[in-house]
Amino acid sequence: MKTILFNLTNAELEKFVTDMGQPRFRAKQISEWINRGAPNFSVMKNIPETLRNDLDRVAQTLPVQVIKKLESSDRQTIKFLLELHDSERIECVLMRTSYGNSVCVSSQAGCAMGCKFCASTLLGLKRNLTANEIFAQILVAQWELRTDKFNEKPVHPNGDANNNDVSHIVVMGTGEPLQNTENVIGFMERANQDMGIGWRRITVSTCGIVPGIDRLIEWGRPINLAISLHAPNDELRRKIMPIANKYSIAEIMDAAWRFTNTHNRQLMIEYILLGDAQGNLLNATPECANELVEIVRDKNCMVNLIPWNAVTEREFSSPSGNAVHRFQDILIKNGVHTRIRRERGTDIGSACGQLRISG
Ligand code: SAH
Repeated sequence: MKTILFNLTNAELEKFVTDMGQPRFRAKQISEWINRGAPNFSVMKNIPETLRNDLDRVAQTLPVQVIKKLESSDRQTIKFLLELHDSERIECVLMRTSYGNSVCVSSQAGCAMGCKFCASTLLGLKRNLTANEIFAQILVAQWELRTDKFNEKPVHPNGDANNNDVSHIVVMGTGEPLQNTENVIGFMERANQDMGIGWRRITVSTCGIVPGIDRLIEWGRPINLAISLHAPNDELRRKIMPIANKYSIAEIMDAAWRFTNTHNRQLMIEYILLGDAQGNLLNATPECANELVEIVRDKNCMVNLIPWNAVTEREFSSPSGNAVHRFQDILIKNGVHTRIRRERGTDIGSACGQLRISG
């Protein structure tokens, strides 16, 4: 198996390079390239070609390799299919937005949560990702942003940084981050320290693993928390999310409010609007909207409504625009902050819930 240079310490990289009969300064050059997200050695133009070829035989730069890149028709969203050293596959998504460049990273290969509406969990959990494997997804996006699209030549990293930086991170790709909490925390620490991404620009989304939320409170950084709620009562929630058998909505919301109170942050609540295969509303009825109001009344939160995105293997439907607006109106009339999430990259299967193991 090839050595993944990104996983080596500076001292280890120096040894690796000097063992190949090379001067020590090559290690520094190589590590600069890797920290910019260089996908391979051939882009390292300040390194002799023979050495680049030698390196390519025994090593790879990052712990993830881009297998496929899909760009949405509006060119604002790019989905990367990535392969890990053990051939597991994950996806991450780069979204160019008006407020910056946001990257949606995966925290696990596959997912164990079994939510009925989601593609990520279809093949179960393969394994947790390491902090490095999560961080490398950011580097892939960063490299993309700094690469001149037309001739594939990297733009100088110290050149015009205007809009060429990853500015926001959402841990909302495949997997349940709070089943891999320590590695996700390690990743966030690194994103903050090494890439200067502010805590308030990082969002972790969970289906409601209460001990994981407690761990984030103890960790103490003022990141954003998103709760994938999707139902306003436990009975309905159990039908679509197995995790509801373990933690009640009351327990989850108690932990979530404790988190937001600690940091004085607005809680994000994600709520998919679902119909059944026949087109009857499931969790998107006016009654459900009223029940949801009771959960969030007078709290500091934003309810993101997400009309269900199609997943071929799943038998649900997406409510009509009218039903969506009726649901939202009830929230608004009761003073709840809410918005309908504009889906990005639906045409390349990169919208919420569409990420899976092989794209
Ligand atoms: N496991 C974490 C992280 C995944 S975030 C969590 O549950 O929060 C992905 C978000 O997309 C979650 O809110 C998830 O419930 C939602 N989602 C899953 N399938 C979807 C679909 N088909 N359409 C729209 N949203 C979906």
